[in-house]
Amino acid sequence: MKKKVPAIKNVYTLEDLRDWPDIDPPIRLGVLGDPVEHSLSPQLQDAALRHDKINMQYARFHIRSNQLGEALKRMRDLQFVGLNLTLPHKLGAPEFVDWLDDDAKQIAASNVIKIEDNRLRGFNTDGRGFARAVRDEFSVDLRDLRVMILGAGGAARAVALECAKSHCERLVIANRTFEKGERLTEKLRRFFEGPKVFGPVPRLQAIPWEEAAFQFQIANVDLVVNATPVGLNPGDPSPLSSRLLAPHLMVYDTIYSGARTPLVSAALEAGARAANGVSMLLHQGALAFEIWFERAAPIDVMRKALGGSASPNTI
Ligand code: NAP
Repeated sequence: MKKKVPAIKNVYTLEDLRDWPDIDPPIRLGVLGDPVEHSLSPQLQDAALRHDKINMQYARFHIRSNQLGEALKRMRDLQFVGLNLTLPHKLGAPEFVDWLDDDAKQIAASNVIKIEDNRLRGFNTDGRGFARAVRDEFSVDLRDLRVMILGAGGAARAVALECAKSHCERLVIANRTFEKGERLTEKLRRFFEGPKVFGPVPRLQAIPWEEAAFQFQIANVDLVVNATPVGLNPGDPSPLSSRLLAPHLMVYDTIYSGARTPLVSAALEAGARAANGVSMLLHQGALAFEIWFERAAPIDVMRKALGGSASPNTI
C-alpha cells in the first residue's frame, strides 16, 4: 500500500520539529521568523527548486526568539540544507552558527544559513540583494547616491554596510533608538574617511527619529530606505508622511507585504519614485539559492513566481 504523505502546512512550529513528519518531497529548506505567515520566500524558492528539478520543498517556521537555538539544532539533525532568517532572528543567529561570512561578521547579523557536514554556516545576502534591487528599480548604483536609512536593525545594518562598501556619496541613519543608529555609523566610519567632501552636511551621520531632522535631511539625500517593520501590519502608518517627502527622491521600502506599502503610497503621492521590497527579496533569495546549491539561480523563474507582488514601479 502507498504510504500516506501529509500535506505541507502553511506554517510549522518548534513542536513540529520535535516530532517531524515524513513528507515527499522532503522539506529541507525554510524561513524562520516571528511573524512569518507573510513570507513570500516559499513561493520564490519552491519555483527555483521545481525548475532545477531539486527534490526538496521549502516551508515557513514560526519560531520565537527564545526557540531559535533549539530550532537550528533540530534542523541540523533533520538534515536541512538551507535556511533564511527574518525578523527578529537575524541578530540572534550569529550566536548559534559555527562560521560567519565577512558581511555577517561585520554587522553581526545573518539572513542565510547553509547546513553542511553537520555544521551551520551563516551568510548575509541582504546587502548585495539590496544593491541589485536598487539597480533594477531605479537604474542607479549606490556609489552615486546620498542615502538615508530608516532603522538600525538587521536589515538596516546590511543595507548600510553595502552603501558604505560601495562608497556612496552620503549615508544618514535615522533610528528610533538614536544610540543604536550612532553605533552603526561609528562601525562604518572607516569607509567614509576618503577625499569625497560635499558642502555643509556630514558624509556620515546618525540623526534622531524626529520630524525636524527628517525635514532637513530630505533636501540632502537622493534615496530613502525603510528598513523598519513600520508598514508591515495592516493599518500601520507610513514611517514618513507624504508631506515630508519630495519629488526628487527615490524611495525604497524593504517591506513587501502589498504592492503599495504605506511608504510607497506616501512617496508616490509626493511625486517621488518608489518601490517595495519584492526586488530585494528576489535578489537576496537568489543569492541564498546560489550559496545552498553552488549553482546559478534561475532568476527569471524566481522573478515570475513573485510577479503579482511587484511594486508599481516595476509592473
Ligand atoms: P530588526 O532587526 O528587528 O530591526 C527593526 C528596526 O526597526 C530597528 O531599528 C527598530 O528601532 C526599528 N523599529 C521597529 N519598530 C519601530 C517603530 N514603531 N518606529 C520606528 N522604528 C521602529 O528587524 P530587521 O530584520 O532589520 O527587519 C526590518 C524590516 O526589513 C522587516 O519589516 C522586513 O520586512 C524588512 N526586510 C525585507 C527584506 C527584503 O528582502 N525585502 C530583507 C530584510 C528585511 P529600535 O532600534 O529603536 O528598536
